[in-house]
Formats: sequence, C-alpha cells, structure tokens
Amino acid sequence: MLSLLGKPVVEALSSALEEQLSLFKKRAGRPPRLEVIIVGNDPASHLYVRNKRRMAQHLGMSQALHEFPSGATADEVRSLVERLNQNDQVDGILIQRPLPSSFDLSDVARWIHPLKDVDAFHPLLAGNLLLGIPTLAPCTPTGILALLSHYGLTVAGKVACVVGRSPIVGKPLSAMLLNADATVINCHRKTRNLSELTSRADFLFVAAGSPQLIGRDHVKSGAVVIDVGIHKLPDGTWCGDVRSDEVAQKAAALSPVPGGVGPLTIFMLMRNVVLAAQSRLNAQQDEGVRRR
Ligand code: NAD
Repeated sequence: MLSLLGKPVVEALSSALEEQLSLFKKRAGRPPRLEVIIVGNDPASHLYVRNKRRMAQHLGMSQALHEFPSGATADEVRSLVERLNQNDQVDGILIQRPLPSSFDLSDVARWIHPLKDVDAFHPLLAGNLLLGIPTLAPCTPTGILALLSHYGLTVAGKVACVVGRSPIVGKPLSAMLLNADATVINCHRKTRNLSELTSRADFLFVAAGSPQLIGRDHVKSGAVVIDVGIHKLPDGTWCGDVRSDEVAQKAAALSPVPGGVGPLTIFMLMRNVVLAAQSRLNAQQDEGVRRR
C-alpha cells in the first residue's frame, strides 16, 4: 500500500513558490504581507497560528499577529479587518477559527476583502469555485488535490466520496472534485447507510472530525483513502478519522495522520498569500497603464 506523505509534495512545490515570492519582492519592492487575527485562548488555535507564522517567516514574508481576548466583540474585530482591507501594504488576512459563539460566521465570511481572503471563506470566492472560475480556494482541499496530483492519482471519471460538508473542507473539496470530472458523493451527519456509499468510492476523502470513524467495511478494495481528520488521543498520540491499521490492508493508498494532508494545508496558505499579493499588484499595474 502506498503511503501518501505530504512532506515530499511540499518539497516538490516549494521552489516554484520561492521563485514567485522573490519575483513579487522585486516587482513590489517589499515581501508579501500576511496579517493573522486570533480571538480567545484556545491552545490548538494558538499552535496552528504559531506554525503558520513560522512558515511565513521561513519563506521571508512579512507578517503580524493581532490577538483579542475571548470577550472581544464582533465590532472590535471587524473594525481591525476594515483597516487591514484598506491598507495597501497588506496582501493576506486570516481570522483563525474557531471564533467565540457570539460571532455570526456567515457575517464574518464577508468581512475580509475577497482579494485578501487567503482562507477563501468569502461567498464570492466560494461562488467562483462552484462555477469553476480560477480563484483563491480553501487551503486543505487545494492541498489534497496537489497530494493526488503529486502521486499521479487522477479522479476524472472515478467515483469520489467525501465524508463531511464543512465550508472549509468537505464542500469545497466536493466542488473541486466535480470540477476535476469525478462523480461525487457527499456524505454528512444525516447520511443513512454511510458504509454503503463510502464503499462505492474509488477515492474516499474523510473530513468528519470523528476519530477513527471509517473502518474496513467502509472501504472498497483498492481505493485511495485520504484522511483529513486529526485528533490527539489521551495518551498523547495522534489519530485521524480512519482506522488506519484496518484500512491499510484493503486500500491501494492512504494518507497517514500525522504527515499526510496537514503539511499541505499550511503550504497552500502561503501560496494563497503569494497569489493574493500578485493579483493585487497586477491589478494596480494594469490600472496604472490605463491611466497613462
Ligand atoms: P466540521 O466539524 O466543521 O465538519 C465535519 C463534517 O463531518 C460535518 O459536515 C458533519 O456533517 C460531518 N460528519 C460528522 N460526523 C459524521 C458521521 N458520523 N458521518 C458522516 N458525516 C459526519 O469539521 P472540519 O473543519 O471540516 O474538519 C474535519 C476534520 O478535519 C477535523 O478533524 C479537523 O481537525 C480536520 N482538519 C484537518 C486539517 C489538516 O490540515 N489536516 C485541516 C482542516 C481540518
């Protein structure tokens, strides 16, 4: 069975990203800039944010962190986002989830300007993705498609099943697979006979956030299985949404947890910052040419 490791994919894609980044620096006279906003003290969120900032620093981007206490109001955070939207030196903005329950997530999704929304939550970007228009797209599904492509796995004409329909993983992943000509089944919490549907899939993607949900009976022989879930067990070890020991005996390929999808998510975030920076710079230069 093939183990679909993320690190070699990141290594293979890094030099192209570094080239784009240095080209941007030459053209703009500054590195791309990422602004990260976090509300509250959730330790896992702080760890994710540290990793994202470390990667940005490693690549030579400029970045800043804005921390709000858990009691901060939506208006306070929104007014910072508006300032950052208007700041021409800022290329990418992200608001780390989860947010306090007092925040209306469908409202928050509209705060960041679509040209700076590097998590791609904005409804305009989601609409582009659905219509197959090139766009900034959510990082985890973009990373999953890069993982498949690196290992030469093609979904066109195949049955793909996605377990999970969150706006950040399941739904955009289903749209991307459909755009890549797969026949897509999207399962969720209300799906009946989950194993009957998942076991039809040539490609099974599991993003349910439910530890070890998927076992041998859910998987077709020879399927490619991508495990997006990540959970820390009481003994300090990690597991995914897939029972990897069982599924490894039946699948042709499986992404491990940790070490599969995870490294690609942060990499695609960095790529989105560079893409966002480039497209604003292109738009500014086009505007300059028109005015001359
Ligand atoms: P979420 O909780 O927002 O969504 C989970 C989805 O799974 C929901 O649509 C729900 O309907 C569905 N679901 C839950 N239980 C189910 C069941 N028993 N049967 C069928 N469907 C079920 O989660 P999310 O943000 O999409 O994340 C999913 C998992 O992926 C989490 O474990 C998260 O930590 C992980 N994740 C990992 C990365 C990474 O980079 N590795 C990135 C994002 C999310």
